[in-house]
Amino acid sequence: MSLNRRQMMLATGAALLGPSALSALAAQKGGPTKKVLFFTKSGGFPHPVVTRKDGRPALAERVLTEVGKEHGFEVVASKDGRMFDPDKIGQWDGFVFETTGDLTQPPKMDKADTEPPISADGLKAFFGAIESGKGFLGIHCASDTFGVHRNMGAEDPYIKMIGGQFAGHGAQQVATIEVADSGFPGASGFGTGSFQINDEWYTQKYWADDLHVILVQKTEGMKGDQYQRPDFPETWARMQGKGRVFYTSMGHREDVWENPKYQGLLLGALGWTTGKLEVDVTPNVSKVTPDYKTTPAEAAKKKSA
Ligand SMILES: [Zn+2]
Repeated sequence: MSLNRRQMMLATGAALLGPSALSALAAQKGGPTKKVLFFTKSGGFPHPVVTRKDGRPALAERVLTEVGKEHGFEVVASKDGRMFDPDKIGQWDGFVFETTGDLTQPPKMDKADTEPPISADGLKAFFGAIESGKGFLGIHCASDTFGVHRNMGAEDPYIKMIGGQFAGHGAQQVATIEVADSGFPGASGFGTGSFQINDEWYTQKYWADDLHVILVQKTEGMKGDQYQRPDFPETWARMQGKGRVFYTSMGHREDVWENPKYQGLLLGALGWTTGKLEVDVTPNVSKVTPDYKTTPAEAAKKKSA
């Protein structure tokens, strides 16, 4: 796809959203601008949508910056770990991560990224900022960050905060996603029932117990051993202290990032996590996806029993 086509799609994105999605999101244009750090550092595998070429911002960086700007957000895309330092952390109303690996270590694979990693003090400041009320929006591989990559797993405060740790993915495929909470800003852009979309789908482990599920991964008919399990949360929200946390596993493919409905979901999440929009995120995971912790091995055992 040519750049011009991409730019055109970005420019028209808002107009393609459904009326209900628009009204909630349009309300965000008023009020003070929220300043958000979009951290795209890849400590491990660098996803193409966040990898810069020839010094130009990556696709995801361009999309979130532009769509944010139209809706009252100043999005700063960066791979510079110093942005979390105690003397800089206070400028951010929220944080968006599309990251991999241990972000306190130099990147293993992204040779184009020469920016410093997050310092120990910076990471501490980040957790403190979330706990005291700053927003966090995790995208796709944000759940493949820290945790097992620094030998902490389920005990990692980052994994506890985001609500799960990447467990695996199969081949990219069109999957059915059910809208569990169409009241979440931007979610109704996908409709109120279910929809189908092509992406790389993550399964997770070390799940939190207090997830407010927004979108559900319908596993029936999915190809790949890791998906032979009951339905599980695909997009969720939860509270971490006073901090508002949102995660969606979508966001690997370029055409997902270019999809106005996906952009609408991210805009809604930006609004809620930074306090522009109020939403009820009472945990519903035990009702919506009661068997979400059942692994494929456990599911197979139950089936044969
Ligand atoms: Zn991916």
